[in-house]
Amino acid sequence: MILYPELCMMIDGERVTMGARDSHPVLNPATGEVLAHVPLATAEDLDRALAAAERGFRRWRKTPAQDRAAVLQGAARLLRERVEEIARIATLEQGKTLAETRGEVDMVANLFDFYAGECQRLYGRVLVRPAGLRSTVIKEPVGPVAAFAPWNFPLSNPGRKLGAPIAAGCSVILKAAEETPASALAVLQALLDAGLPGDVAQAVFGVPDRVSRHLLASPIIRKLSFTGSTQIGRHLLKLAAEDLKRTTMELGGHGPVLVFEDADTQKALDMMVAHKFRNAGQVCVSPTRFIVQDSVFDGFVQGFSRRAAAIKVGNGLDPDVVMGPMANPRRPEAIDQMVKDAVARGATLHTGGERIGNQGFFYAPTVLSNVPLDAAIMNEEPFGPVAIINSYRDEEAMIAEANRLPYGLAAYAWTRDAARQRRLAAELETGMLTINSTAVAAPDAPFGGVKWSGHGAEDGIEGVEACLVTKAIHEA
Ligand code: NAD
Repeated sequence: MILYPELCMMIDGERVTMGARDSHPVLNPATGEVLAHVPLATAEDLDRALAAAERGFRRWRKTPAQDRAAVLQGAARLLRERVEEIARIATLEQGKTLAETRGEVDMVANLFDFYAGECQRLYGRVLVRPAGLRSTVIKEPVGPVAAFAPWNFPLSNPGRKLGAPIAAGCSVILKAAEETPASALAVLQALLDAGLPGDVAQAVFGVPDRVSRHLLASPIIRKLSFTGSTQIGRHLLKLAAEDLKRTTMELGGHGPVLVFEDADTQKALDMMVAHKFRNAGQVCVSPTRFIVQDSVFDGFVQGFSRRAAAIKVGNGLDPDVVMGPMANPRRPEAIDQMVKDAVARGATLHTGGERIGNQGFFYAPTVLSNVPLDAAIMNEEPFGPVAIINSYRDEEAMIAEANRLPYGLAAYAWTRDAARQRRLAAELETGMLTINSTAVAAPDAPFGGVKWSGHGAEDGIEGVEACLVTKAIHEA
């Protein structure tokens, strides 16, 4: 028997349940059934959360770093203890496989452990001055943070949004996705159970535009942290600009994968196919445009299509399943339109290209090749289980295609040539690059993009730095 919890918001340390509030149904993407309803915040709820965040910030900024570290470490321990329960909840409401949601719990626990160490190393510096003068630079928490986390990583997105402000000494109001509220609440609960005061981190849900307008209009909030589409990110940046709030924006991508003729193509195929269809492709760093040198193109398309067609798709709770459903009914529709548009413009469909069954939100792993540049899917973030494979003559043409779009989040390259590896590292316009690997994220490495993929980074020392401001003090 799988237990899905009763949903609430967490405001000022209290569970706030439905009462007379409006609500949003949470669906199981594998069946389409309603799991529960999540309460939506009223303006009064948000004002209460803001007042608590202001109070929580005054308290937390003065809390010794060792105590903040102890909370993060305690939460990491609790998450690891609760991994099975939390992973099942996340799979139920988001759809991805249990192996993936277990991995997310692990990722959040590792990130909290890393931040626990990092928050004790937020050093300032002493400047060189003549005797009798002293100038120092110190770092201080920026203030209460409004953080918005999407549904595609129901645990690690909230983990990132909560962990960095808490490490830095900020308070945070998290609005996680209404589609995956129980996962976000589970991450927050681990922090609260580890001793975090209830006014330091809170969780609200609501009509997204109303919540973001309300929170960002408040002078209490000093920073916006958003993960989601470039379009919504641009809208929120405008709202944040009114009050000159600081921002961390983790936005869309259209990940290029450059496969050169000197690459180990079998290894590239094995690793990239798994990476492509992870979370049904609903990943901001998903590899989407496979830019393959023409001499190895045919074999690459065949190998990719064979592997994609063999992927077992089904309910993420089934241990044999490799790819779960898409997260909500909007996604298969959007992907189907993009695939049909590409085929109508002359692309070749090798496998997939259709929904699976009439229950839940399943879409078959799909491979397209020879996709023309004017197809929507070549220009807009696909965010689904579709690989686009096109052929190119040489390195120059491949780099040009990789850099063609305004996005720059993650890029991948497969080549054994060391000189080329260095050229790619210099030439590709991207926030993250992996060469002969798919390991694009780690607790100690900055995760973020350039150009339309956003600015600022999460994870790494950069994640904590983004929640700090500097103060220069000159003494005579
Ligand atoms: P969407 O763009 O409406 O929503 C994306 C996320 O932003 C959701 O979590 C949503 O709750 C939130 N959001 C939307 N409007 C908001 C607002 N005014 N204020 C605050 N938060 C707001 O659409 P969607 O259908 O959920 O996803 C569509 C596209 O979003 C995808 O195709 C993908 O490009 C992008 N997306 C990106 C990520 C990522 O990790 N970068 C995650 C989810 C979705």
